[in-house]
Amino acid sequence: MTRGDNGGCVKGCLWGFLGFVLIALLSTVLACAGSTADSHSSSNAQQQTDTSISASDSGTEAESKQKDPVQTDATASSAAQAAKPSASDATKGQKLVVRFLDVGQGDAAIIEFPDGKTMVIDAGREGGSTVDSALAADKRSRIDWLVATHPDADHIGGLPTVIGANEIGSVWAPNCNHSTETYTRFLEAVAAKGLQIDEATAGKQIAAQNGYRIDILWPQAGASYDDSNGYSVVILVTYGQNTFLFTGDAPAEALEQCSVGYVDVLKASHHGSASGTNAAVAQKLTPKVAILSYGLDNSYGHPAQTVMDALSAVGATIYGTGAQGTITVTSDGTNVSVSTAHQGTVVAQSQDAGAGSSTLDGGGHGGSGASTNAQVAAPQAQPSSGATAGQDQTVYVAPTGKKYHAQGCRTLSRSKNVTSMTRSQAEAEGYTACQVCGG
Ligand SMILES: [Zn+2]
Ligand SMILES: [Zn+2]
Repeated sequence: MTRGDNGGCVKGCLWGFLGFVLIALLSTVLACAGSTADSHSSSNAQQQTDTSISASDSGTEAESKQKDPVQTDATASSAAQAAKPSASDATKGQKLVVRFLDVGQGDAAIIEFPDGKTMVIDAGREGGSTVDSALAADKRSRIDWLVATHPDADHIGGLPTVIGANEIGSVWAPNCNHSTETYTRFLEAVAAKGLQIDEATAGKQIAAQNGYRIDILWPQAGASYDDSNGYSVVILVTYGQNTFLFTGDAPAEALEQCSVGYVDVLKASHHGSASGTNAAVAQKLTPKVAILSYGLDNSYGHPAQTVMDALSAVGATIYGTGAQGTITVTSDGTNVSVSTAHQGTVVAQSQDAGAGSSTLDGGGHGGSGASTNAQVAAPQAQPSSGATAGQDQTVYVAPTGKKYHAQGCRTLSRSKNVTSMTRSQAEAEGYTACQVCGG
């Protein structure tokens, strides 16, 4: 049969064929209900913890979507999308998916853009195969942008494996040479692929297309820092209204200088060390979601209680790879939702893990307070209402909201007219606790 014959048949049978496709599609949707049919979230069953958070003003939209967003409608619609790919609306309604991989004590993140492009930021100390498996599970073998945030082994140790196993578009790294064997292996892997390193400096843009942007905010061009962490490449990914900040191990002082304000999702710097996040950084960024990438029972005391307190105080929901495994954050350009590989509570490993950690200028800050391994239970990501306070605590409501909020809740702070009342009064009037701040 020639191509022409095929074309004629397709036209002739179009309506009958469409009917068949509809039925096939329906059965696909039914068969996939309850599983992750979305091509973007195909890797393993990360549905145990699932939170959907809206970028809307009052927070009410977030709350209405909070209930079980994946298993029902979302799954059905994404299954339909997967079965009916359309080149013309490649980004419309599609998702940006970020995975913060569990690579033990280290960082590794995969960003899957709605147009099919892929970025990898770091690969842990020995996380190369973890990155490769996650990419393979999503049928991706090309990394358009690979970023080595800085030469420390817990970030670049796994990169040679990733570079060797995948097609690489470009490699970005700071101008920070290191004499370590790990760094040499990284350079050799880059060279072996015939690639060159693009120097990452603040102000450069890695990409701006199809509804998203990737901007470099740090390090500053030509600057030198006493500590390799100071060179950490800080990257802002913007998709629609949603923003993600990747910080490597950048010192808090660097983040204070970065030209960025509010972000939806923060990969907290330096594994939750106090050197990477302080109250000023938390208040500047006021993330909805904060990801701590660390290994359980690490010897550094990461994460620090002060970091968890600072992030909680600005309303962030805290997730940690050490406690919850790989964390997947999905954005449709307006809302972000989070799922974790398994359930767990992020627990601080020290009161203040700033001891011995770097600062931007290498001076003074480090020496205070030894790590105590206090094992202090951190605030729950989403505290239940009434857990810590009585019925007469003052809460706040927005004019259009159905939720009551604790003072300082970010979703509330975006509303113009806020009314205060006691919790019992709020509940009597039909308000329920905000799931972001706990009410
Ligand atoms: Zn480092
Ligand atoms: Zn590190």
